[in-house]
Amino acid sequence: MSIESLRADIVEIGRRMYARGYTASNDGNISVRIDASRLLMTPKSVCKGFMTPDMMCVTDLDGRKLQGDRDPSSEMLMHLEVYRQRPDVQAVVHAHPPTATGFAVAGIPLDRAVLAEVLTTLGSIPLAEYATPSTVELPEAVRKYIKAHDGMLLANHGALTVGGDLYSAYYKMETIEHFAKISLVARTLGRENLISREEVMRLQELRGTYGIKAPAPICADDAMPAVSDPASCQVVQAPEGGGLRLVPDPPSHAGETAARSGVASVEAGEIRLTYRELSALIEDAIRSLR
Ligand SMILES: [Zn+2]
Repeated sequence: MSIESLRADIVEIGRRMYARGYTASNDGNISVRIDASRLLMTPKSVCKGFMTPDMMCVTDLDGRKLQGDRDPSSEMLMHLEVYRQRPDVQAVVHAHPPTATGFAVAGIPLDRAVLAEVLTTLGSIPLAEYATPSTVELPEAVRKYIKAHDGMLLANHGALTVGGDLYSAYYKMETIEHFAKISLVARTLGRENLISREEVMRLQELRGTYGIKAPAPICADDAMPAVSDPASCQVVQAPEGGGLRLVPDPPSHAGETAARSGVASVEAGEIRLTYRELSALIEDAIRSLR
């Protein structure tokens, strides 16, 4: 692919990210391999919705600028780390899509077996631990998961996706945000039916049938996360179905599942209040202060 068409593709993807609200102001960054030794990257301090092809920077794989009037992205170190860890990756996209980033702020990975298409394409979407943006901490946080995953959440920051070309990396960002929105609705409704472990393994076989290139298989077992290595397989929360393909996750078990996925811990001696009871308590407290 010519460098001119890569420049044009980055402009178009930046425009789509901004139009969809995945970035605000100058957030987000996009890069692509030009050849074995050069990258094309968005510049720092520009709105991704209003870029022109001439704005892009050409760098080497160590981040030295070879061409361009502007300096490369402030998150260049994270992009360089991905290319170092994943020779198969051709393009990297980083943005702050609001629903997925909300999960990242809440500390909730998108790793439950809920949507068949997400399982076949991305597998699980883990949560990389918090790191100060633009510093060497961020590539370090990403390194843990990037070998086995094409997409991840970045704690209290945003999301990162990679692919075999620019559009494939960008579409994974769309998939993550879409998945986050659906998960939010299901959880707001109070229940998620999970895809059983057996069905997850069946879906994994479809990757081969459809020629989907996944960087790693789904881990065979999620019962002991300590045994599952996020660098070698994708940890997916999927219950044994015992013949069922969908397993209801009723509210009575929600706390247990939440605890397992690190969402919240259910302590002994916990009290539960309805919204009305809580409001009444707060009103009483305010009244007693007057
Ligand atoms: Zn960012």
